[in-house]
Amino acid sequence: MKEAIGTTGLVMNEPLLWEKSRKGRCGISFSRKDVPDASVDADLAGEGPDFPDLSEVDVVRHYTRLSQWNFGVDTGMYPLGSCTMKYNPKINEKMAALPGFAEAHPMLPPDLSQGTLRLMYELERYLSEITGMDATTVQPAAGAHGELTAMLLFHAFHRKKGEKRTKILIPDTAHGTNPASASLCGYASIPVASNEKGVLDPATVADIMDEDTVGIMVTNPNTLGLFEDNIRKVCDIVHAKGGLVYCDGANLNAVMGIVKMGEIGIDAVHLNLHKTFSTPHGGGGPGAGPVCVKKALEPFLPVPRVEKKGEKYEFVWNRAESIGKIHAFYGNFGILIRAYTYILSMGKELKTASQHAVLNANYIKEKLRDVYHLPYDRPCMHECVFTDKAQEQYRITTLDIAKRLMDYGFHPPTIYFPLVVHGAIMIEPTETEPKENIDAFIAAMRAIAKEAEENPDLLKNAPVKTKVRRLDEVTAARKPCLCG
Ligand SMILES: *Cc1c(COP(=O)(O)O)cnc(C)c1O
Repeated sequence: MKEAIGTTGLVMNEPLLWEKSRKGRCGISFSRKDVPDASVDADLAGEGPDFPDLSEVDVVRHYTRLSQWNFGVDTGMYPLGSCTMKYNPKINEKMAALPGFAEAHPMLPPDLSQGTLRLMYELERYLSEITGMDATTVQPAAGAHGELTAMLLFHAFHRKKGEKRTKILIPDTAHGTNPASASLCGYASIPVASNEKGVLDPATVADIMDEDTVGIMVTNPNTLGLFEDNIRKVCDIVHAKGGLVYCDGANLNAVMGIVKMGEIGIDAVHLNLHKTFSTPHGGGGPGAGPVCVKKALEPFLPVPRVEKKGEKYEFVWNRAESIGKIHAFYGNFGILIRAYTYILSMGKELKTASQHAVLNANYIKEKLRDVYHLPYDRPCMHECVFTDKAQEQYRITTLDIAKRLMDYGFHPPTIYFPLVVHGAIMIEPTETEPKENIDAFIAAMRAIAKEAEENPDLLKNAPVKTKVRRLDEVTAARKPCLCG
């Protein structure tokens, strides 16, 4: 059998730069001195900082080796559920690096920024079209920031009607950021239990929806990777009591070009450009969480709005009902360029991307269902959720399985999330993995299930082939050592 992806190759050790330092070594060669020596006043010069003395090759190798310890989607499959770690086409980077974009200063007047304004204007319209909504703001900097923006919009909407609503419904299958965003806006979160199929039951919503309730925040597809198939009924119930429906659309990768949020009763939806629209993310880097809304919420969108007058694009600040500004300048513009490029280069293929993402997740689900426990046995969207229940008899847990996957060369999937599933293993392959990689991942997961039965001690000690072995995660989180 061929070696698995992560089991061969050189893994270099790398000392600190100070340990590599040799007195007098230097990264550049000065030309021969042609002026007399001059002494520097020792008091003025002082001791100076203790920089290591290194040659150019020392420095280049140091950083190149460190970069090889990283795992990213450019290294291999990254099946982290809920994060949509798909491959980001390099054309996006090329466009974002065009000097006209990369060097544009945010203080430039609109006359000198027509191209950047046009990009924002058009991106807002593309996102409205994709979601079936009426208007979009690209200002929010992340998914959670989009949620907060939408809560502020809901608040402005109810206030205009003279209503003071204080609570919001949040299903147990919502993303954890939802209650946090609602609470930042001063709303009390009322949890809604999902049914045995893992989705919302209209009757449960009807029981608790009242006229003190702002509305509902539904993650759809939800965090179990399931489509909320009662969503229209749920929207009708909430609307009948004067409430609004918010959709956390971070999982749009499953339904692009397939489900129009505006047509199923959603009033506002946020998207994660740094998930669905192929821009790099992770490590808390810059993102963008645009919010798309129905007409009734448009007057409240953040300022400035980008509008088109004749052939010219301009910023419009004068909007009396706006919730104001929610980000410095106009959001994370670099991310907007990447998403715009992705949308233009994909066109109608966006729908195919979603179909492949769903197909890949269901393929994994079917290929692993006989060895891992499947808590919700029904077709999934772009991610599937297993548990460690079948391995319990060997005392093997989700954590052991995830750690062992590294020995096989795969980044582990999301574990212990969503919270409603005990010992969850949440796998999202995305549409950008070829079948061979998905098959190799399945083979690794199956091999681990076998090892759990035959050699559980090996799994308890995994990973065994990585540079660092199993870490003390509690101490790492509570007492992080940041100095090397
Ligand atoms: C990732 C995610 C979020 C949060 O997005 P950030 O950009 O990390 O703030 C919210 N909801 C869902 C369903 C997500 O997957």
